[in-house]
Amino acid sequence: PDTEVNPHDPLDELRSLAATAGAVVVDEVLQKRQKPSAKSFLGKGKVQELAERVKLHQAQVIILENDLSPSQIGNIEKVCEVKVLDRSELILDIFAARAQTHEARLQVELAQLEYTYPRLRAMWTHLERIVGGAPAGIGTRGPGEQQLEIDRRIVQRKKSILKKEIESLQARKTREVEARNTDHFTVGLVGYTNAGKSTLFNTVTDGEAYAADQLFATLSTRTREWKLGNGDTVMLSDTVGFVRNLPHHLVASFKATLEEAVHSQLLLVVLDVSDPHCQRQLRTVNEVLDSIGATEQPRLLVLNKIDKVDHNVDLLLLQKEYPDAIPLSAATGRHIDQLVEAVRGHLHGGTVTLTLNLA
Ligand code: GDP
Repeated sequence: PDTEVNPHDPLDELRSLAATAGAVVVDEVLQKRQKPSAKSFLGKGKVQELAERVKLHQAQVIILENDLSPSQIGNIEKVCEVKVLDRSELILDIFAARAQTHEARLQVELAQLEYTYPRLRAMWTHLERIVGGAPAGIGTRGPGEQQLEIDRRIVQRKKSILKKEIESLQARKTREVEARNTDHFTVGLVGYTNAGKSTLFNTVTDGEAYAADQLFATLSTRTREWKLGNGDTVMLSDTVGFVRNLPHHLVASFKATLEEAVHSQLLLVVLDVSDPHCQRQLRTVNEVLDSIGATEQPRLLVLNKIDKVDHNVDLLLLQKEYPDAIPLSAATGRHIDQLVEAVRGHLHGGTVTLTLNLA
């Protein structure tokens, strides 16, 4: 009963999140039910079906769109004999891979201890039956399986140490200064998951290598050179994506992880104009950027996926409200040249150079 789920494609965001975490989706299963089952969230027949499909595809992990209780996760794992991740765990896993500052890492670790740890414990009883594990350690970053034996009290103590450390970091306002190259103009991509950030990233940075090897090791190399032509080059970074209906317990770690956006000199706010919630999403993006202190640099609005909409109301309204916005298609490459021009304008001081003939 997710208010923001796309009724035509209820799994679109989850698919993007899974890809971001490095998973290859081999199958998708939907369940319609009045009310979740208390025992395993999904109905008994559905869990059986899931187990069969897992065997068929030799899948290594099941990712659920909803958040489940530790025992519900444990019960699905018992039947399906693979690791099960719920939505919050998947999101936390992405944050863990992307957290760059000291504070972000601490925030994510704290959230993982609070959220993931009880779920790992639920899995402990039948862990022996689970072979292999998730690809690229999905769901195993941060406080991983090797910590399973840690006594509850130690976890509690660790949590309070983390909280104190975060507090003192915040109090001192010391943020790790990004090792950024001041020779380069840096551009950050921000926006919701599924807006098309990585597609745009790949399109403009000629990122075939990125797309091909994205599966595993390269999650951290998300900054690439973007050649604008005429010898102009900027550094483009993809930031952690906004998530629809972000669970409250993940807000702090999300904001800390996004904080690298603060260090860009220009922000490209990517919006999926085919998403019925895009106007609200734009407001949220702007509010969150304000709240993490990303207020110094200009924001350029990118209205993506125009190939999917036929001058819909959202697109027209947004263009009216934001005359500088660039409508384009990251997938087809349409109007990318306009984006390049706009970025070049910002690179050269935000003004168009006029040659005055004073003679
Ligand atoms: P991210 O989560 O913001 O990085 O989004 P992705 O780049 O992974 O894109 C999410 C989905 O939208 C993918 O299925 C893309 O193929 C698709 N997509 C991205 N840009 C466009 C576009 O311009 N047009 C269309 N039709 N689809 C797009």
